[in-house]
Amino acid sequence: MLGRRLYSAASRHVTSARPTDGFVGAIGNTPLVRIGSLSKETGCEILGKAEFMNPGGSVKDRAALFVVEDAERRGLVRPGGTIVEGTAGNTGIGLAHVCRAKGYGCVIYMPNTQSQEKIDLLKMLGADVRPVPAVAFDNPDNYNHQARRYAESLDNAAWTNQFDNTANRQAHIETTGPEIWAQTAGKIDGFTCATGTGGTFAGTTRFLKEASEGRVKSFAADPPGSVIYSYIKSGGKVMDRSGSSITEGIGQGRITANLQPDIHLVDDALRIPDADTVRMLFRLLDEEGIYLGASSALNVAAAYEMAKALGPGNTIVTIMADGAYRYQSRLFSRKWLESKGLVDAIPAHLQKYIAL
Ligand code: PMP
Repeated sequence: MLGRRLYSAASRHVTSARPTDGFVGAIGNTPLVRIGSLSKETGCEILGKAEFMNPGGSVKDRAALFVVEDAERRGLVRPGGTIVEGTAGNTGIGLAHVCRAKGYGCVIYMPNTQSQEKIDLLKMLGADVRPVPAVAFDNPDNYNHQARRYAESLDNAAWTNQFDNTANRQAHIETTGPEIWAQTAGKIDGFTCATGTGGTFAGTTRFLKEASEGRVKSFAADPPGSVIYSYIKSGGKVMDRSGSSITEGIGQGRITANLQPDIHLVDDALRIPDADTVRMLFRLLDEEGIYLGASSALNVAAAYEMAKALGPGNTIVTIMADGAYRYQSRLFSRKWLESKGLVDAIPAHLQKYIAL
């Protein structure tokens, strides 16, 4: 005898979602999370798309799937072939998942400034990781050019070229944007996020602008050292590269092909200093139990600024691109934060979260 029933058939946790086709089948359809403390403070709805819940742990899983399927459609790679990419890490992790699922080899060139956690995970997933010196895009030894040259030297290999392959932006036009529109039932007034390749920002902006007939405002969020802020503020005349940031995976020195078609749709730009980013990172941990990477903390800080700019009653959506565990040895290390001059930016009552 089982005795009394312990569940109700009407349980709100029952979902109609069917099993996914492997782990990569679970890419997308991430939750949209209401950030209560910031919403209350601003009088806006501040919502973060929980992209860290993708199988590879970041928003880049979406782009990885789209660029590989684009290479297949264009006949650049056939069964048994190899995918080669230059990436700060997250695209590589997404590609490593997709390549395993589809049976391709995966070679990743990355700047040697990236966190050890990302490198370790790539190796665990079977990728051939090649750290190279972090030099600017106009240097022939930049990680992207090395990736392209290596792919060209192989038979049956594709360089997926995430920066200038618009299949990346298409992933967000076809998935991220429509999900946000459906999850807010069209009640969204503002969107903001930072740019790495620009795929997420441009693609989501494009979809939301089209769906709302231009009503949804789009603000570019930008760390110091990246040109997007000055480019938008000056109407395309200035590209200011001065400054630097602790954020990984964002910041851009040029207008990539993914940004190009939609940059004129952008309404404004926000510069978010690292001090605001780390303050928001520890605040979210303390008030919401949400542990994010620095680019996501910057995005949420930008959503908070956008809420203040648009005023109470607006709904603002941003992207929580990846989680803190990918950066634990840096963002939660007192020594590391001290070396960046950022410990004083973290209020005293939040310093207990600096655990390492
Ligand atoms: N945040 C993180 C942590 C990333 O790795 C990336 C991708 N480089 C981004 C944000 C930016 O995404 P996108 O390339 O779509 O601009």
